[in-house]
Amino acid sequence: MAVATQATEEDFAKLDRIIEEETAAFLERQPRSTELWEKAKGHLVSGVTSSWQGSDPQPIWIKEGRGSHLIDEDGLEFVDLHGGYGAGVAGHGHPAIVRAVQDRVTRGTHFASPVVDAIDVSTELARRWGLPLWRFGNSGTEVTMDAIHLMRAVTGRPYFIKVEGSYHGHHDSVQVSVYCDDPELMGPADLPNSTHEEGGIPDAMLELCKVVPFNNLEAVKTRLEQFPGQIAGMIVEPVMMNIGIVFPDDDYLAKLKELLHAHGALLTFDEVKTGFTTRPGGITEFYGVTPDIVCVAKALGGGIAVAGIGGVEEVMGKIDTGVYEQCGTFNGNPMAMAAAKACLLEVLTPEAYAHVESLRSNMVGQLEGVVAEYELPAYIESIGFKGSVVFSPTRIKNYRDFLDWDDRFSSAHWYYQHKGGVMLPNGGKVEQWMLSVQHTQDDVQKFVDNFAAFAKAMRS
Ligand code: PMP
Repeated sequence: MAVATQATEEDFAKLDRIIEEETAAFLERQPRSTELWEKAKGHLVSGVTSSWQGSDPQPIWIKEGRGSHLIDEDGLEFVDLHGGYGAGVAGHGHPAIVRAVQDRVTRGTHFASPVVDAIDVSTELARRWGLPLWRFGNSGTEVTMDAIHLMRAVTGRPYFIKVEGSYHGHHDSVQVSVYCDDPELMGPADLPNSTHEEGGIPDAMLELCKVVPFNNLEAVKTRLEQFPGQIAGMIVEPVMMNIGIVFPDDDYLAKLKELLHAHGALLTFDEVKTGFTTRPGGITEFYGVTPDIVCVAKALGGGIAVAGIGGVEEVMGKIDTGVYEQCGTFNGNPMAMAAAKACLLEVLTPEAYAHVESLRSNMVGQLEGVVAEYELPAYIESIGFKGSVVFSPTRIKNYRDFLDWDDRFSSAHWYYQHKGGVMLPNGGKVEQWMLSVQHTQDDVQKFVDNFAAFAKAMRS
């Protein structure tokens, strides 16, 4: 649903005031977090364990999770819609995950030899994705790195294509054109330059990565024709989930596969966020387009670190012949395999998907009602466990559209959710809400009520 309402100067003045007032109120609610953060800065860089856990005005220290709720170190309780950046499908302390991990921890947590659970996990992944061969890693970054290596190893070609504004992890190859906002560096919208915003990525990496806008087949064709016989393949998040939520045009994924194959190049879907959370078999199932390689992570382990890479025989089979060595000390770790098996077979059941769908549809119906009632410049985008209030009057189709979305809306909304007892991810407009199988209609009602309170404040 696209709405015509445009944000006004008055809206922005209100947003600035809300952010200022709510930041002060937030800090007052979080004295223990302030104290812990100060202490942590002694030996933890920036006082956090990953740069993306640092958030303004300060990180929130979590004490524990219970079901669909979080309790922070200040003793405040929240409905958890952060979902640990998309890993939290099971919620906290899910009996099946607890049982699997408890059982495994007493019988050895690491061997670097295969365990039987790995057979069950790979079999279930093959069933869900319709891709026969799998391996494991520990994070999304590791498996997208494997995917790039594998596309190169199998085709013998050096370059690959990536979408502007897509995040695929923090290895060199894909840290190109992620969150650049300098128009000069970004270059033309229909054929963007390769840029890097992170330190530590040499210019030489830019040469290897050819960038295209999302939802633009012509640009992919141009790249393939510019570098004949040199493009190994393309990595794409089939529904973009690091710029809110952006769906592909109807035939984009099918045509992409056709186009790449016509040029002897491979297609990788990065389903690190979309895997398990959108459909049991991810976006691959949703659109019925099967890539050559798929990467999954985050939700796979129900809260334990694990990742998977799967693919067709002609690609994954090359690992067997030694064309590419896919390896890692903790790959297929017994704890990770036990958790993944429980997550796939006991947590992410058809009934669980039906329950989450009923939460989502209730939530979206009510949110759209609020947007209409208060004439907000926004629309709701959602699928499965995930959703986003997109504060843009027109539908976003790619990264350049996303840049026009003023982040002050998401920031002010985040504070309203926090003060109303709902924890959203601290990524502003980048991130989205995440449900779990343990969330209830009461939980989602809280989110809707807070959103309505925010809308009312904007129009008061
Ligand atoms: N791919 C996508 C689409 C992601 O969203 C992320 C993480 N946000 C990654 C890869 C990297 O995963 P990880 O943080 O587990 O390395």
